Amino acid sequence: MGSFFTFKNILGVARRNEVKIFRAPLNYSISNKVTFDSLDECYIKTKELCESKRLPPNINIKGVFACNQLDLSEIKVYGFDYDYTLACYKPAMGYILYNLGRDVLINKFKYPAGIMDLEYNPTFAVRGLHYDIEKGLLMKLDSFLQIELGSVYKGLTKVQESDVLHLYKSRKVPLKYIEYHHNRNIVPKMTQLADMFSVPEMSLLCNIAEYFEQNDIHYHPEILFQDVKNSVGQSHTKMHNLVANDTATFLEKNPTFEEFFKRLIGAGKQLFLITNSPYKFVHKGMNLLVGDKWEEYFDVIIVEARKPRFFTDESCPLRIYDKQSHTNLWKKVNSLHKGNIYYQGTINKLLELTGWRGPEVLYFGDHPYSDLADVTLEHGWRTGAIIDDLTHEIETLNTEQFKRTCNWLQMLTQLIEDQQNSDLPNAAVHLMQWQQECERLSSLRFSK
Ligand SMILES: [Mg+2]
Repeated sequence: MGSFFTFKNILGVARRNEVKIFRAPLNYSISNKVTFDSLDECYIKTKELCESKRLPPNINIKGVFACNQLDLSEIKVYGFDYDYTLACYKPAMGYILYNLGRDVLINKFKYPAGIMDLEYNPTFAVRGLHYDIEKGLLMKLDSFLQIELGSVYKGLTKVQESDVLHLYKSRKVPLKYIEYHHNRNIVPKMTQLADMFSVPEMSLLCNIAEYFEQNDIHYHPEILFQDVKNSVGQSHTKMHNLVANDTATFLEKNPTFEEFFKRLIGAGKQLFLITNSPYKFVHKGMNLLVGDKWEEYFDVIIVEARKPRFFTDESCPLRIYDKQSHTNLWKKVNSLHKGNIYYQGTINKLLELTGWRGPEVLYFGDHPYSDLADVTLEHGWRTGAIIDDLTHEIETLNTEQFKRTCNWLQMLTQLIEDQQNSDLPNAAVHLMQWQQECERLSSLRFSK
């Protein structure tokens, strides 16, 4: 059996524990090769054949999935993001961001003290969802910007499909709702929560919206969104300090890093790190992950890089970060030296000072836009996406129930196509029933 799942749609599945079949390619049919006396018989035989089919093999949960050909011998430089790329955080990270953001809302923005009782639910949302800032709705859009019905929530309450269609007039959301256009001062009506740190933010946002709805407290969805965003954003400095002082509680250890970096260097590759996080925070984490000599593995280290603007801005000075005074030096940087820590800058400056060419760089990151899209489109870098969310998806794809349902949906779809002009008795009734069964199977959600 061929590939049965479109990975394009994986980011932003409506709820963490649910995987849905998006499409079934057609590649198998018996009903146009064998003559049947009735469509009932045709259906039964097709079902029997389906049940006798061997299920596809499991997908490797630790697999590397290539979207394009890549000759690693042509890669001379390996680059890495830090947060959620090298540094994989334990669930404790989500809780601390949620709690800190909630504290800011109460203590600084004077939100009702009752929200202190609202706890973080790490399974409520996944990254990739869109939030309608005007209407205060969280939802999944597919890659064609169509609303995934059944995934729309106001607070913690699911919005009925008929209400969604009434509000938006159609399932299709206009592109201008979502993207920045020429005037970057215009905030789009919908924003995508694509950052791993946005998962606790979404939980906080929806918990408070639900609290307001349940307690008849009038609120403005856009102001609530901005307040939650600002409160979680303002908590990052405090989070950095808490995590830096207790890295083992928050960071997953990875004993393979040292060997991996040594192997790359042994093969003559250059290594660099570009992170938005501050040096002290990264230093503590890398000490735990790679050891106290971690800086020696990297030819260039840039902290507080301001991605995605590091990749898109025309100019921003690159400075040396002074580890003793914890500030940046004002001296102009005309060349890069291993052992220095650099601060801010732009990709153009990095390429100018290193001489690296786009296609010889392979950069790993977890953020589909900030880390990956711009450098590929604008600079021709090769990119590797670290998508931890796929672990759950692949585990679900590997379940027998998911495979059997996909097989049957695929064959039933083909059966409808083969018999759509059938002259057999009650063909129209059968075709309608099969179509309804297809729709039911397509709307099923699976979990491991
Ligand atoms: Mg990251």
